[in-house]
Amino acid sequence: MEFGYTPEQKMFKKVIREFAKNEVEPIATEIDENSRFPWETVKKMAKMGLFGITVPKEYGGAGADYITYVIAIEEISKACASTGGIIAAVNSLAAWPLHQYGTHEQKMKYLLPMAKGDTLGAFGLTEPEAGSDAFNQQTTAEDKGDHYILNGNKIFISGGDVADTIIMFAKLVTKRGKRGRMCAFIVEKTSPGFSVGVKENKMGIRASGTAELVMQDCTIPKDNLLGEVGQGFEIAMNTLDGGRIGIAAQALGIAQGSLDAAVKYAKERKQFGSTISRFQSIQWMLADIYTETEAARLLTYKSAWLKQNDMPYSTEAAQAKLYASELCEKAATQAIQIHGGYGYMKDYPIERFFRDSKITQIYEGTSEIQRLVIATNLLKGI
Ligand SMILES: Cc1cc2nc3c(=O)[nH]c(=O)nc-3n(C[C@H](O)[C@H](O)[C@H](O)COP(=O)(O)OP(=O)(O)OC[C@H]3O[C@@H](n4cnc5c(N)ncnc54)[C@H](O)[C@@H]3O)c2cc1C
Repeated sequence: MEFGYTPEQKMFKKVIREFAKNEVEPIATEIDENSRFPWETVKKMAKMGLFGITVPKEYGGAGADYITYVIAIEEISKACASTGGIIAAVNSLAAWPLHQYGTHEQKMKYLLPMAKGDTLGAFGLTEPEAGSDAFNQQTTAEDKGDHYILNGNKIFISGGDVADTIIMFAKLVTKRGKRGRMCAFIVEKTSPGFSVGVKENKMGIRASGTAELVMQDCTIPKDNLLGEVGQGFEIAMNTLDGGRIGIAAQALGIAQGSLDAAVKYAKERKQFGSTISRFQSIQWMLADIYTETEAARLLTYKSAWLKQNDMPYSTEAAQAKLYASELCEKAATQAIQIHGGYGYMKDYPIERFFRDSKITQIYEGTSEIQRLVIATNLLKGI
């Protein structure tokens, strides 16, 4: 069993940490306050190959492994969870299904520019009536011979307001006019009948846009079916299985950022004539966060390693996301406690970590849905 990084991963971690410190952290508070998409950082991250980390080089990616992917999300999220989430969404939710299920032509047309960071991608699954119950899609697709017509609304779509290419899910209308088999489609922002609706005003990850997508007789070419007819649900679920590793890494970054902030503050703040780091109550909180962050890291890296080695990882990815997301909320809460009243103020980044932490328990499957996946696999003996 090997717990160390390869020399390449070690070097990458150093580079990405410097980048996060110099380019991501300095604007994190401002982009959060103004709910501003960080285009300047996105352009720099594109140049570094961060939008196609695991995509093979022939399709414009960096051709790196999943551990490297986790390192990138963790280090960036430690500085700014919005920015970490932007990379996670494009890599996991758009580039991955394109690479896994796309034809060579689809990959050349859509994956290559996305992996190079010239275009952004999004994943349109959730609808007003289809959240955890993702199979209950109301969006329809009609087969019109040489094209499809899509009608429906998607909500809460990460990067929906800035995406050029969206992996969109809909049910194919049967000859009897009923909603039939679920399919995945590639929709462009320029597709006739496509528009961006409400942009959400969120509690956390405020710099990553979250938007409604509207399709009114949205016309897409027949070639833009992703995978086979009826493969949509499988594509959605497999994409989310992998996506959960990215969210676990985002949660890990928030937890580590909270711990680092708490340690720094505890060593500086003096009460009763000594630094608060000398009080056992503070030390125990730090010890618990430190230990649980390491446990979350092991679960996250293990799921990435399994995915990298083409081994089953559905249960492990759900465990990593469940544990890391529950931990990061706890870590941020306790870090605020260690900061006392100052932790409640906007002057310290810890209140942002606290607001950002909550989303990791909700998107790409709530904690309850992760438990459902884990228990189902356990009972089936998978
Ligand atoms: C900021 C943000 C970004 C998002 N980005 C995307 C995106 O890019 N693409 C996309 O498609 N979606 C996205 N989502 C949607 C997200 O995945 C859903 O919000 C999430 O899956 C939960 O669905 P819901 O909100 O409808 O809640 P519901 O499904 O209505 O759940 C409400 C509550 O009921 C619980 N519950 C539901 N079913 C069960 C069950 N069977 N057993 C036990 N408990 C259950 C849930 O755990 C939760 O506590 C995003 C959401 C947010 C907030």
